[in-house]
Amino acid sequence: MSGYHLDIPDDALRKFSNDNSGRNKTRETNKRRGTFSKDYERPQLDFFNDHCDHVVSKYHLDQIHTKGKVKKIDPSNDRFVAVQVEKLDGGVEWYHAANVVLALGNDLPRYPAWVDVDYDVQHGFVRHLLDGNDFCKGSPQSTAIVGGGITVAHKSLELGCGNAGEDMPSKSRAVHVISRHPFKEQQFDTHQEWMMDQAAAKRSIDGGGAGLPDRQVKFQDCSDYEIRRKTIARERIPGTVTTAVFRGKGGLKYAIEEGRVQFHQSEIVAKAYVDAQEGEGLSRQKLQLKLSNGESITVDRVLLGTGFGTKIPGGMLMEELSKELPTSEYCGFPIVDKNLRWGRNGRIFVSGALAELEVGPSARNIAGARLAAERIVEAFTGS
Ligand SMILES: Cc1cc2nc3c(=O)[nH]c(=O)nc-3n(C[C@H](O)[C@H](O)[C@H](O)COP(=O)(O)OP(=O)(O)OC[C@H]3O[C@@H](n4cnc5c(N)ncnc54)[C@H](O)[C@@H]3O)c2cc1C
Repeated sequence: MSGYHLDIPDDALRKFSNDNSGRNKTRETNKRRGTFSKDYERPQLDFFNDHCDHVVSKYHLDQIHTKGKVKKIDPSNDRFVAVQVEKLDGGVEWYHAANVVLALGNDLPRYPAWVDVDYDVQHGFVRHLLDGNDFCKGSPQSTAIVGGGITVAHKSLELGCGNAGEDMPSKSRAVHVISRHPFKEQQFDTHQEWMMDQAAAKRSIDGGGAGLPDRQVKFQDCSDYEIRRKTIARERIPGTVTTAVFRGKGGLKYAIEEGRVQFHQSEIVAKAYVDAQEGEGLSRQKLQLKLSNGESITVDRVLLGTGFGTKIPGGMLMEELSKELPTSEYCGFPIVDKNLRWGRNGRIFVSGALAELEVGPSARNIAGARLAAERIVEAFTGS
């Protein structure tokens, strides 16, 4: 895991840890110090964030950053790509870029059908955990968290266990988790073989290993984009939790056993707004949730950990571009060359989810971003 970070050298995260300790620590010392976990060398969040800040200042990324929203991209000119940007003050500017990389992230957060997105969100009844993060402040409340993945695991532990040694959550701030399936343990979203980049493959061959894993070779050799999409769907397992978060010290399994988190394997089938009594003469509007297993629970708020939608990221911007550039008839995602160039003029590149049909199942993770960066750089260096 210490190899999945934002800097260029493979060992940059470990080196950052060594440099910042002032001594030349070994991998073992770092593990003992707690910068990395014992399993898979997962970096601590604060340390990882410091490293990201370090990368931003090292490459002066803040100086080339413009805040705004890209509204339109015109790929019709062979000499440049015209990019229309709406600035924060509402002004609109056109850039003429030699090259463009589309790294637009994911589709929008997914809201279940029972949510009235305008009313429920505006009145604080429902929030999506991937849609801003200013909603867990204020007075303690009873909460239902929907979903069965790592986002839900972290949030339910935070709300259910709070500070170590804290009392059991009272009824007024009970924590419920509602998931269609039991918690499924998995360390990564995809098999690690999908994450090996060319540089690592070369090191493998130099060291007498097999190089690029078979599954990556097979994926790249396949020219049928429907089969590629089906491979991605099969190999990318959403809604999982890591063993450390579930069964590690203070893990969710134990929080559920102790009653700090109440687990419901079920789905929400209906909701109602009800007035609940709170002390003398005081009432407060709450949400009553009817579950598919027949249970009914009443909470102050619902937090959604239901992930992202499955549409192509980028909304209208991508819809317009897709009319002019090649996409898969099966899933609508960009069809790009091996260097992730999209379209005839060779100046538009893709990364992240948009590069999925070429990079494979790990495209949406940091490892996939590294694979994409390697291929895009290769378009200019030829190696
Ligand atoms: C909860 C969560 C946990 C994760 N944990 C891990 C993990 O443990 N390990 C791992 O490898 N990966 C993890 N990931 C995935 C990781 O975050 C992504 O791989 C990474 O963020 C992808 O980077 P990106 O720059 O391609 O996209 P993003 O980080 O999603 O950034 C996309 C950017 O594009 C901007 N944008 C979109 N449209 C426009 C437009 N029209 N104009 C201007 N800007 C636009 C967005 O505002 C955003 O800033 C996690 C993701 C989530 C949501």
